[in-house]
Amino acid sequence: MTYEIKHHLTEAVVMAYSAGTLPEAFNLLVAAHISMCDECRALVAAHEFVGGAILEDCEEIALSDDALEACFSKIETGAKDQILVPATPVSSQNENSVLPQPLQDYVGGDLDAVKWRKVGGGVQQAILRTSKEATVRLLRIPGGCEVPDHGHHGTEMTLVLQGAFRDEFSEFRAGDVEICDADVEHTPIALEGEDCICLAATDARLKFAGFLPKIAQPFLRI
Ligand code: ZN
Ligand code: ZN
Repeated sequence: MTYEIKHHLTEAVVMAYSAGTLPEAFNLLVAAHISMCDECRALVAAHEFVGGAILEDCEEIALSDDALEACFSKIETGAKDQILVPATPVSSQNENSVLPQPLQDYVGGDLDAVKWRKVGGGVQQAILRTSKEATVRLLRIPGGCEVPDHGHHGTEMTLVLQGAFRDEFSEFRAGDVEICDADVEHTPIALEGEDCICLAATDARLKFAGFLPKIAQPFLRI
């Protein structure tokens, strides 16, 4: 990837991911980003190392004899047991694939395996099957198209996989993550050119500002 990622995960998100407290939908988005981003992958590894060091201090807790040894060996092997972290860096993936490996595991293949559904305005989406507390979906937005103006009840994280979009705050390209909280209203627009494909995780239903999109919401399930 020639583009240098400019928008990364926040420290709080990395900590929650390392501690294993994120809902599955957000876990998947984080795993997809760190498979594309050396910087955040290193940050996650550092947090997992600290987590291991804290375990080491908890001597009072009865652990099996080999617990500490197992912990260190996990640190040495780069915590490869954490399911969603790809054991191999993105460079070893197929150069032409759009979906990073953690996503391909969910979809059952690359982009051509995605079962898209039209949601109006030329936008397509595919909701991925995860635990219920949050929703994660792939969005395909044709160049120049707009995602309806909306606010958020909870947190929304968007990872760009192909193409680019911009909103009132910045421009986001492949690998970039935008994190929006409940008080944010924005209008993402795909840049002209190839379709913008993103992965979006939300922990509550978005509230749309316009009348028509509100009616469409039950269909969108976002
Ligand atoms: Zn990053
Ligand atoms: Zn949004």
